[in-house]
Amino acid sequence: MIKTRLILALLTASLLQQCSYSQDNSSTTNTPKMDSSNKKNPVYSNSDSSKVTMSEEDWKKILPEDVYYIARQKGTERPWTSKFENFKEKGTYYCAACGNALFQSDTKFESGCGWPSFYQPISKSSIIYTPDNTHGMERTEVQCGRCKAHLGHVFEDGPPPTGLRYCINGVILDFAKAKDAEKQYNKEKPQQ
Ligand SMILES: [Zn+2]
Repeated sequence: MIKTRLILALLTASLLQQCSYSQDNSSTTNTPKMDSSNKKNPVYSNSDSSKVTMSEEDWKKILPEDVYYIARQKGTERPWTSKFENFKEKGTYYCAACGNALFQSDTKFESGCGWPSFYQPISKSSIIYTPDNTHGMERTEVQCGRCKAHLGHVFEDGPPPTGLRYCINGVILDFAKAKDAEKQYNKEKPQQ
């Protein structure tokens, strides 16, 4: 009996450790959350669709380091490190730099490439496409349609109906659960 308890305790401890490890791994010090670190980001909005133009210097001041690295320096997070890679909650993914809605969870699929993958953006204007010939490859870069943050790349080996695979850095994604968005909507909706 004591032995079983000990094993259980050890198991729990190692699970907890794994949990906190993966959390640390996917987010460094400042994971952008809808209402914490974004308070100091004056352009962050889930509803304002006006274009954002800001100097790199100002971006650096308001974005967490890991987001700045991806968004403004076109960095790439290490594969398999994003908490969104195998994430299956229903909801909406927003640009972590400016709050622009980018993807719906029902267009997300398991590509096995190591980064969160989608087959279709939320709307045509939510994304900008730019040819990228760096690293000896011909790729198409995808950027946020509102603030031009680097998001990742799009490839033509995705599933139907689009046949596209938007391979996106998880660091540049903010997620809001469908239920939360609905609650927000109902709160803002005038009473009938
Ligand atoms: Zn953006």
